Amino acid sequence: GPDYIRAIAPYQGGKPISEVAREFGLNEADIIKLASNENPLGMPESAKQAMLAVMAELGRYPDSNGFELKAAISAKYDVPQDWITLGNGSNDILELAARAFVHQGQSILYAQYSFAVYALATQAVGARAIVVQAKDYGHDLQAMAEAIAPDTRLVFIANPNNPTGTFLPAAEIETFLQKVPQHVAVVLDEAYNEYLAPNQQYDSIAWVRRYPNLLVSRTLSKAYGLAGLRIGFGIAQPHITDLLNRIRQPFNVNSMAQAAAIAALNDTDFLQKSAQLNAAGYRQLTEGFDALGLRYVPSHGNFVLVKVGDDDAAGARINLALLKQGIIVRPVANYGLPQWLRISIGLPEENAAFLAALKNVLND
Ligand code: PMP
Repeated sequence: GPDYIRAIAPYQGGKPISEVAREFGLNEADIIKLASNENPLGMPESAKQAMLAVMAELGRYPDSNGFELKAAISAKYDVPQDWITLGNGSNDILELAARAFVHQGQSILYAQYSFAVYALATQAVGARAIVVQAKDYGHDLQAMAEAIAPDTRLVFIANPNNPTGTFLPAAEIETFLQKVPQHVAVVLDEAYNEYLAPNQQYDSIAWVRRYPNLLVSRTLSKAYGLAGLRIGFGIAQPHITDLLNRIRQPFNVNSMAQAAAIAALNDTDFLQKSAQLNAAGYRQLTEGFDALGLRYVPSHGNFVLVKVGDDDAAGARINLALLKQGIIVRPVANYGLPQWLRISIGLPEENAAFLAALKNVLND
């Protein structure tokens, strides 16, 4: 295979509960997982019911074009159906964008400390990565605009960003979009959008109408609680949707996922509950970090990046000590942040158990 494929370090997700139970001799029921930015409420009951109704139909292929789901997205975001691309998780959308817009040898631009899949998608198409130094752990959009090279064809922006939780105000993004040449596509990855406070919400769909090179990416994996089903979507003008549609797998979103997503998108109660629980959990975790004298990056997502030591083994050391106590969090050394850990916000009792374990571990 090509050298650029051999050079890829595979994506490492949060450790599964079953694996940690086996490795550390623990009961699965005693393990708390705060490692993958999942919804601690699990999936919405409405989605469960919708899936059960589809079970009898699993002998048939899914709707390849996802008509009903696109209709639900179209109604919710007020865009025509041919502006919507469905993905097997939003990771699928990110990867489709790299394949659709970029040749081997051209470049893709993204920020230091931004989501790991941007690097993977870049390497997978044999493109060159231009990684722009972060500012206060977030995107430096001015520097990013200046770093666009003649061969750049795609820019990834995450708002809020993972793993740092940083947020870009709408005005900064719009200024950036105005500077990007039209032959360079911009993916605005809004996986954590639903956690933004009402006064931080902004209208990215209005930008899609104005900027023909913009693709907004969303997921059902976070606030909607459907991570295991793998469903996300992109919104862009039809000339982009048409390109993505040519290269996606014909049945990239399965029947259960389509049915569950329709239910979840319309379940405003669940969404509201998720956002409220997250806001309370954020206060709980950050108050705990303050009490322990730990530095953290203020977060707008469903997770917090916290600094657990001053040496480059600190993240791995504290992570292992937490695992032994049955608490799974996310080391971020692969992001170049070896002194930090990323903690997904859990239920109140999970956050409390994590903070108690962290306190123990730090005092050891
Ligand atoms: N974008 C960002 C910024 C993320 O953090 C994640 C999840 N880790 C994704 C996209 C992809 O999530 P999914 O494929 O489950 O939609």
